[in-house]
Amino acid sequence: MFTARWYQHLSNRDSAEIAGFLRGSQYWPPERLRWYQFEKIRRLLEHAYRHVPYYRRVFEGIGATPADIRTLAEMEKLPILTKEIIRENFEDLIATNIPKEHLIANSTGGSTGEPLRLYQDRQYEQWANAARNRGWYEIAGCRPGDNCAVLWGAMHEIGEDFPLKERLRSLLTTGEIPLNAFNLSEERKRYFLKWCHMLRPRLLRGYVTAIHDFAGFLDANNLRFPQVQGVILCAETVDPHVQAFVEKVFKAPSYNTYGGRELSLIAMECEHKNGLHEISENNYVEFEPITLTGYQDAGNLLITNLNNYAMPFIRYRIGDIGIPGNGKQCECGRGLPLVSKVIGRTTEVFVFADGTRIAGEMFIHLMKDFSLKEYQFVQVSDSRVVLRMKSEEFNDLDRQAAIREKYARYLPVDARLDFEKVDGFEKTATGKFRFVFRQMNAVRES
Ligand SMILES: [Zn+2]
Repeated sequence: MFTARWYQHLSNRDSAEIAGFLRGSQYWPPERLRWYQFEKIRRLLEHAYRHVPYYRRVFEGIGATPADIRTLAEMEKLPILTKEIIRENFEDLIATNIPKEHLIANSTGGSTGEPLRLYQDRQYEQWANAARNRGWYEIAGCRPGDNCAVLWGAMHEIGEDFPLKERLRSLLTTGEIPLNAFNLSEERKRYFLKWCHMLRPRLLRGYVTAIHDFAGFLDANNLRFPQVQGVILCAETVDPHVQAFVEKVFKAPSYNTYGGRELSLIAMECEHKNGLHEISENNYVEFEPITLTGYQDAGNLLITNLNNYAMPFIRYRIGDIGIPGNGKQCECGRGLPLVSKVIGRTTEVFVFADGTRIAGEMFIHLMKDFSLKEYQFVQVSDSRVVLRMKSEEFNDLDRQAAIREKYARYLPVDARLDFEKVDGFEKTATGKFRFVFRQMNAVRES
């Protein structure tokens, strides 16, 4: 939309310079990117040591100063930052040299747990906006302000659906045509489609399950979506089959992205789909090794944000598991390192009595032979998993037996898989569908 392009141009003049920088830096050789990243880390550590009481204590506790961190690898000397530590040391994590009125309050959605409150600053926002321009628009050959259909959801923020006034404001300032993914009745989908045919978006963006669901609706009803240049997938892990289906229905390439509210975009996919390119200019990514059935080198993602000086997050365990790219280069020419895959949330790892740990993604992956559209695996104790399904699917006993047989190969011998008939599936407060989760009396933290 013309007005949105101008609005974006005028209101983001300060991030425009950064956006220009990011356009070039993504193609730097890996060594230059690492050098650049370490320079930013060095400055961040110096700031944290001087002005953030929590980090002053951390450095004193290990008998070091920022000067003792001389390489990226030496970041390992610093302890991991957890959500619990942030809650317990909230005030002490705020930089003392930043005026209170410059702190920007934010919080995580809390779709799978208690929300986390935090502060960010203007510098953080400028870099985050610029990285979003790159990963959400430029990657598909578009520009910020171009019309973009958005299947989003955040009930606590928008209620039933976006009011018309809000929708118009959004369209004029950002070019976004939003639909609340939380409430996707067939009527709402048709309404959204009508708006999209009128406004001709150049991009579609949203939660993976919402876009998948919408693609299924278009396909089943033989409906056409206006031609877009790309589909941007957000906020959830993506099965390659789902991604292929989405591309077939929308007749456009799709780009997976990974991020979190506390740190903005962390990684983005390019057209070659060799994994996700880390946004090295904004975040430093490490992998804390863990043992997981079926994966060689899985790790908890540890993220250091390089731009938020208001409340530095250094080696923050974000709660997701990933597989490193191990220095593999991508033929797109970007020097940004690759994360092979983000497997999912640590809360979706099922931990059994004998210590076996199986990622939720594994449960989903094994289901693809059984053509069930909706189902939920719930771990209810350290020896029992329940598979919830709708009645017509539950009643197919042959399929139940085949599923049981398949999963028995992976589950510990003393673990049980039971089936449960349900009328419908609950979504999280932010409208995401969860295929796997734990619901145990005492949930062991992974
Ligand atoms: Zn690439």
